[in-house]
Amino acid sequence: MVRQILLVEDNLSNRELFVEILRLNKAYELHVAENGIQALEMLETFSPDLILMDIHMPEMDGLAVTRTIKSTPELASIPIVALSALAMKSDIQSALEAGCVDYITKPIRIRDFLEKVAQYSTAREVQSPGYKEPTGL
Ligand SMILES: [Mg+2]
Repeated sequence: MVRQILLVEDNLSNRELFVEILRLNKAYELHVAENGIQALEMLETFSPDLILMDIHMPEMDGLAVTRTIKSTPELASIPIVALSALAMKSDIQSALEAGCVDYITKPIRIRDFLEKVAQYSTAREVQSPGYKEPTGL
């Protein structure tokens, strides 16, 4: 079953890197938002299996976007993994407090990154087996 992933990342070269890594894997269908506002707009009509959330973005940072998603009942169950170059304990703590399920530091290690994507993109299938992939393919 193809897993829908939403990447929210404002930096072009980071976006290109994640797209390249994830599009090699046919298990994933990747959707990309360039900022938090765009991500929230996309989530009005689309429910991914996993959100990869950059923390540092202009206007609305990843923590604020995460809090908004987690306070929206229809979206709250979607796992969100934070992406950030900051690796202080306090940075990780604030991401977890905002509602992220895990934290990946950039630059990423591709193998660890793919393991986490695989792990968390299946989490919701287990929690709610009634979930159906969006139709259209
Ligand atoms: Mg950024």
